[in-house]
Formats: sequence, C-alpha cells, structure tokens
Amino acid sequence: MASLVIHGGAGTIPRANFTPETYQAARDGLRDALRAGWDILSRGGLAVDAVEAAVVALENHPSFNAGHGAVLNAAGDHELDAAIMDGRTRAAGAVASARAIRNPVRAARRVMDDSDCVLLSAGGADAFAREQGLEMVEQSYFTTPLRQQHWLRAQEEKAGLLMRPRSEAEKHGTVGAVALDDQGNLAAATSTGGYTYKRVGRVGDTPVIGAGTYACNGVVAVSCTGLGEYFIRRGTAHDIAARIRYRGEAVADAAQAAIADLTEDQCGAGLIAVDFEGRIAMPHNTEGMYRGSVTADGTASVGVYADDFSAVPL
Ligand code: ASP
Repeated sequence: MASLVIHGGAGTIPRANFTPETYQAARDGLRDALRAGWDILSRGGLAVDAVEAAVVALENHPSFNAGHGAVLNAAGDHELDAAIMDGRTRAAGAVASARAIRNPVRAARRVMDDSDCVLLSAGGADAFAREQGLEMVEQSYFTTPLRQQHWLRAQEEKAGLLMRPRSEAEKHGTVGAVALDDQGNLAAATSTGGYTYKRVGRVGDTPVIGAGTYACNGVVAVSCTGLGEYFIRRGTAHDIAARIRYRGEAVADAAQAAIADLTEDQCGAGLIAVDFEGRIAMPHNTEGMYRGSVTADGTASVGVYADDFSAVPL
C-alpha cells in the first residue's frame, strides 16, 4: 500500500506574518506537490518517480526555498543543492552549488541514472545537466522579491542595523518528499537553496547522502530540513535508518530521537520519514513545518503548524 509524505521546510513563517493569501498559496503548493506524486503512486508507479515529481512541483512553487523562490547567498546569487535516492538498490544522485539548472532534483536523478558519480558540484553539475538536455535558466529565474528582501535584511543584520530579528523563514527552508510504492520500494528526494547569505560555495546536508537524504528498501526513506551543518555532523537521515534497522525502533521513535539530538544542538530542525510498511513520521522542533501526506487509503492532508494539519481534496 503506497504512501507519500512531503515537506516545504521547517523555516516556517511565524503565524502573524502570513497573510490569508500567502498562507493559502503555501497550502495549495503543498497540495499540488502531493497530487504530482500521488498521480504516479496511485497508478502503480515507482516511489522514485513519485518523489521526483513531488519535488519538481515544490521547486516550481515560489513559496518554498528551492528552485524558483530559492534564497540568495552572500554574493546575492543562487547556489542550489538537491539529491535523490532509490531504496531498491541504494542508488543515489546529487548536485551541489548548481547555478543554472531549473529543476535541480531532475539533475540529481540524471546523476543517479546516467553517470557513474553520486555527487556533482558547481560548474560540473551545470555542465552535466546541460549535456543531459535539462532545462537551463538564468539566475533571475530563481529570484523572488521576497527573497531579495530577506537578503537585504541579512545584510543589514551583518552591519548591525537590524531592529527586528530575522525569522527562521527569512533564513532558510528546503523541500523534500519520501514515498513507499505498491511494490514496497522506498525513495527520498530533497532540494534547497540553503540559507540566506550563506558563504559562497557552502554546501548543506541536502545533497549529502545519509545526512539530509536517505532511502533503503525494507527500512525507511528520510528527507530533512534545518541548518545542514548539524545534520551532516550527526548523519541524521542514516542514523534514523540505523535505529530502525539495527535496533528495531518504530519510525516515529527513531525520527523523534533524531529531532531530540538536533534540539540538543539548538538546531531548528524537521524531517519526514516513511518506513517499509508505510508508517509515517513528520517531527519538527520549530513553530511550524510545511508538510503534507497521502496515506494508503488515499487521504491527503497538508498543514504548517501543529493545529492546522487538515484534509485537502486530491
Ligand atoms: N537543510 C538546508 C541547508 O542547510 C536548509 C534548510 O532546510 O532549512 O542547506
């Protein structure tokens, strides 16, 4: 029985900063991503195709920090990270610091399927995507007025001129999807712009297999969000798989333990996970996390905070 979980990042806008329009736009974006993934799973398609399709939809939506709507680095540019992992074979592909690939998760998929590498970076990632015939764009495609505003505020903060502290939402975010298909295959995909004003060349956890992204059939698929340095140090996504595999922990317990570790690090963190039987977990220690799920019976829900996770028509 298939299931699908997505996230749009744990760097969520504080409730008070949402307008009814921006709140609804985020919910609609989550629902559209669920539709894109579920369309594949409900027709007996592969988990790896479903997570790619869901992440493409989130990359294309300006509410989330990936693809169109990604944050700007210290130089005012976009450098994008993405990864995908197929639990059937533990094949994985990733790109880091890509600058011109419209949908970085598609490039990650090609790295997995059509190269002998796992991770390609910067100019090499862009060149590979171009060779593969993927859609390439100017940097301006990724930029939104909101992200420019966040960048200016980060610059003011550096100069000690900021009156109101920056919110988590201004700093970071990520998108991701995990799925179990009808044949019992697990897959995970994650994509991000990183965090606002990050150092040029900085790479987060998203494209580091075992840190921000991991999938293994018979165990679990995981996609993470939060300050990547902590997830890399802890090997978070693989740690959850190890807890389930070696200790027989339930996915909810393993996922919560990982969040507890990151809370100890004082890292705002969230993750989504689905195990080999379709049980899901979506823990986070932040005020909110954009998230959505479709459970085996086809019930779809999306939400941002603890109390607004509610059904949406697929
Ligand atoms: N994990 C992302 C990174 O560190 C950011 C985030 O999820 O908020 O690049």
